[in-house]
Amino acid sequence: MSSLKKPIVSLQENASGFFDKVQNKYSAQMKCTEGCAKCCYTDISVFEVESENIKEWFNSQSDEKKAELKSLWQTPVNAGACAFLYNESCTVYEARPIICRTQGAPLFVQSENVLDYCPLNFEAGDPPKEDWLNLERLNTLLSFAASTSGQDKRVRLKKLKEFLLKA
Ligand code: SF4
Repeated sequence: MSSLKKPIVSLQENASGFFDKVQNKYSAQMKCTEGCAKCCYTDISVFEVESENIKEWFNSQSDEKKAELKSLWQTPVNAGACAFLYNESCTVYEARPIICRTQGAPLFVQSENVLDYCPLNFEAGDPPKEDWLNLERLNTLLSFAASTSGQDKRVRLKKLKEFLLKA
């Protein structure tokens, strides 16, 4: 098996790296913390390249862990919550999609000249430009990683969970 990291994994790690850097730098101004799952009250779809990544992660777990996850996933989620959110915690955290890795941080939509971040963060005002993530650039890289891998269909996380429950 090749030891080369898949482009999507590198992209996910870069997104997490950006978030960690900003969170470390602005720890006093960011409320993102374990147990806060406000961003997870959503029903998202991801490119197949990311849903496949979650499948691979799931398949790499021990039988015991898989059984534990399946048992959890059979219980209903809170109204409006992501299919993978239980007890305000992400059950696929290590393999979570890129969109989940950047939520709450300063995301810049250049074409609209809009800066977005969680309203609980940066109450004292916008952080400087050097700490913004160019969202359109990230989405372009993500689309590229999806299309070059031939996995650019959209998959709803709800459907992915149904699939994993039957795996
Ligand atoms: S995959 Fe995990 S981090 Fe992303 S929205 Fe769902 S529960 Fe939240």
